[in-house]
Amino acid sequence: MSDIKGPPPLNESQRSLGYVVPNTRSLQSEHDGASCDVAVVGAGPAGSAAALVLARDGWSVCLLERGSYPGSKNMYGGVIYPRVLDGLLPNWREDMPVQRWVTRRATMVMTETQSLTLDYRTSAWGSPPYNGATSFRPELDRWLAGKAVEAGAVLVEATTATGLLRDPSSGAICGVRTDRPDGDLRARIVIACDGVNSFLAKEAGLYKNLDPSNYTLGIKEVLSLPSKTIEDRFGLSPGQGADFEILGCTGGIPGGGFLYTNLDSLAVGVVVRLPELAASARRPEELVTELKAHPGIAPLVRDGELIEYSAHLIPEGGLDMMPELVCDGLLVAGDAAAMCLAAGIWLEGVNFAIGSGAAAGEAASQALASGSSNARALAGYRDRLESNFVLADHRKLRRAPHLVLSKRMQLSYPQLMCNLMEGVFTVENPSPKPGLTKLVLREAKRSGVSLTELLSDAWTAFRTFG
Ligand SMILES: Cc1cc2nc3c(=O)[nH]c(=O)nc-3n(C[C@H](O)[C@H](O)[C@H](O)COP(=O)(O)OP(=O)(O)OC[C@H]3O[C@@H](n4cnc5c(N)ncnc54)[C@H](O)[C@@H]3O)c2cc1C
Repeated sequence: MSDIKGPPPLNESQRSLGYVVPNTRSLQSEHDGASCDVAVVGAGPAGSAAALVLARDGWSVCLLERGSYPGSKNMYGGVIYPRVLDGLLPNWREDMPVQRWVTRRATMVMTETQSLTLDYRTSAWGSPPYNGATSFRPELDRWLAGKAVEAGAVLVEATTATGLLRDPSSGAICGVRTDRPDGDLRARIVIACDGVNSFLAKEAGLYKNLDPSNYTLGIKEVLSLPSKTIEDRFGLSPGQGADFEILGCTGGIPGGGFLYTNLDSLAVGVVVRLPELAASARRPEELVTELKAHPGIAPLVRDGELIEYSAHLIPEGGLDMMPELVCDGLLVAGDAAAMCLAAGIWLEGVNFAIGSGAAAGEAASQALASGSSNARALAGYRDRLESNFVLADHRKLRRAPHLVLSKRMQLSYPQLMCNLMEGVFTVENPSPKPGLTKLVLREAKRSGVSLTELLSDAWTAFRTFG
């Protein structure tokens, strides 16, 4: 299920550009035995960014999307960090679909009955250059794909790439099979931006081992509420938004939760690691229901009418699960290459998809200009990712997924922190106030955390986030 019902309307330029290749038109044409220079599979943020870069460089690009329009099948929590577009689309602020600009960023830890929130607000993020924004995927993805089409890419909707074509003599990838009647799309380079399950990257052999513990399942509800109610409850001015990331709300299953404000709805959900979810035999929607009932969340979501429910996998393993990024004739970007950054207080995938998609487009463009599309010609892709934020951030935060999903971080520390606060603020006169050291030691013991573990985790956290 997607973020909004029904496709947003095409704008004038999308209509006049022949935005869609109808199902009846052949994918084949006659350039050097290839239908196009590059076939980009998946019109999510990664695919559209890659197609945009390539089309601007003058290459013929076919952008395949299995959904009836870009974004129709896509979901996420709801906050994007669009500054990644500054170089790609400098005027993005003029027409990018935004629900609210995030001016309040809170990190909450909770136990079943307690919560402790680090709450940051700034009006600076409510005006240019902005920071984060809430946005609906069907609108966002369609807008970004529209930019690729304006640049000259051909968007082929309602078409699934079902496999890879290989050159019989060299074995290099030279296109994709599709579920269209006329089937194959030949291309000099294929860019797989087909999301977390990337059947293309797997078929190409880029993933060496697939470990379910590297994946989480995200479950989200959208609750309708009047915008004025949202603004009153979250202390926001019109146009401003809030982003809450939550730890300790997943019933002991490693993961986290989120609560975001759209214009007149809230997005609330949890993200949980797959093997433990399966072993728990819990229904994922129960976890969201419990989160909504928590005393720290219930007053914020009260009377919200459930208008959508959706679930999707997230590649959370970071650098440790990333596949090979290129082989002869193929590059892989975005979630298809596990580039989503899920590091506790950060859940950023769209900006990483755009950053990696654009880098894949640039590397493909350079390879095409050199007259080769083998793995060596495409190797510049990794260099580009290393020199921009995509791999730099993943490298820096490599330990974060393990640390954040560890048992102590999930259960013991939320308990310890909440109890500590309770101890600090509980007045037990006529007894005098206890000293902080005494409280820390007492609560660490109660939460089952030894001093050695506390110091070791503090050191790991420092190395991870420092
Ligand atoms: C619950 C949840 C919450 C999240 N919250 C956030 C958040 O708040 N902020 C954030 O930045 N990120 C968030 N993410 C992560 C973010 O959604 C992803 O990292 C991002 O969407 C990746 O973009 P992509 O283009 O690589 O892949 P996708 O967005 O998955 O796009 C892949 C596209 O390929 C198409 N496709 C797939 N297979 C084929 C095929 N064979 N043929 C043709 N088309 C195909 C799909 O229809 C889709 O359009 C969240 C994810 C989840 C699940």
